Amino acid sequence: MHISLEKNEDASRATLRRVRQILDGTPGLTARFKKARKIIRNFRRPAFYEISQECGLFCEGCYYFEDSSREHISQEMTPEQWQDFFAGEKKRGVTMAYLVGAEPSMHMDRLLAASENIRFGKIGTNGMIRIHPDVKFRIGVSVWGDDDYDLKFRHGGMLRKAFENYEGDPRAVMLYTLSPWNLHTVKDIVRMSAEHGLEITFSMYSPTSTYLKKLADSVPADNKYFHLGDSIKSPVFSADDLHKIKDLTTELLETYPETLLLTPGYNKRITRSGSLYAIDQETGIAEDCASRIKEPLHYYRVDGVKQNQKCCTPSIDCKHCRLYSGGWSSLFEPGPEYLVDSQSFIEWLDMIDMLGRIFLYPYPFAEES
Ligand code: SF4
Ligand code: SF4
Repeated sequence: MHISLEKNEDASRATLRRVRQILDGTPGLTARFKKARKIIRNFRRPAFYEISQECGLFCEGCYYFEDSSREHISQEMTPEQWQDFFAGEKKRGVTMAYLVGAEPSMHMDRLLAASENIRFGKIGTNGMIRIHPDVKFRIGVSVWGDDDYDLKFRHGGMLRKAFENYEGDPRAVMLYTLSPWNLHTVKDIVRMSAEHGLEITFSMYSPTSTYLKKLADSVPADNKYFHLGDSIKSPVFSADDLHKIKDLTTELLETYPETLLLTPGYNKRITRSGSLYAIDQETGIAEDCASRIKEPLHYYRVDGVKQNQKCCTPSIDCKHCRLYSGGWSSLFEPGPEYLVDSQSFIEWLDMIDMLGRIFLYPYPFAEES
């Protein structure tokens, strides 16, 4: 995730000129825009850190393990090296750390070292191990569905444990991965989050290229990350699925405005049909996704080596990608659709505010909300 709003490019200058026109013509918006810029500034030097290569679950189509071409690193950094590494990242000026896995909670010392050195962070966890209270980062706890679904699709009854581990924890945001398979369980999970004093937001299942190829080639199911195979419906959202999600989440936003971290504008954006990004026809890569690993965004493996790869989930097919990481980070600069008039610009401001609430802990602007 990185910002382009401050880049000295013609397009950015034109954007800022248009923003100023809107601000001049709409009293009261300037303060909100200043706040949006402050939120965005916290993402000015971000980095991904792969904290662990292990995980106890077997999620269907796992973005990490399902791709067998992923290289296993035999020589991970020692605890002392992790300390020095994050101290170096602090010196480099990193403002936002994304701690990813496989499952980062399996290495608490690494998370503590990151938290001691970097101002903001976001951990992606399956919730099986409660992250140490001294780790002052946002924690995205992944949820895939109700108990039955959890057992069938992840080979583990993780749901209750995750809610138990994070009940009332202000660092935690439940991260429900909507998929074509689990829409019937969404309402129950949002209600459970409210009952456990936890906020919740959505990502959307985005299949890996290898998972799609296995389906296309009718490869037999295995007992790991392709254990359901073609016995279930396609992992790609149909237009009907997307309509259904839009209606469902609109209803949930009305019922749980304090629990559900989402805005109507983002809901509309993420449920539109077709690819969400401009795809390079030759490479199949999203050209305009802000989760791409390019300056100033870095990605480091467990041995501390900087990786040159597409994004933090390189095996996912960009054409079908609706991950929340790419979705939210691609909003840092308001696109033309948010510069039409003051209403569309307010839609963008609302999304930036929500992005701050989802990714920043502690949220430094709570009193301004
Ligand atoms: S919890 Fe994450 S890393 Fe572990 S199997 Fe599931 S998707 Fe993969
Ligand atoms: S897989 Fe998704 S997050 Fe990664 S570059 Fe493609 S669109 Fe962006």
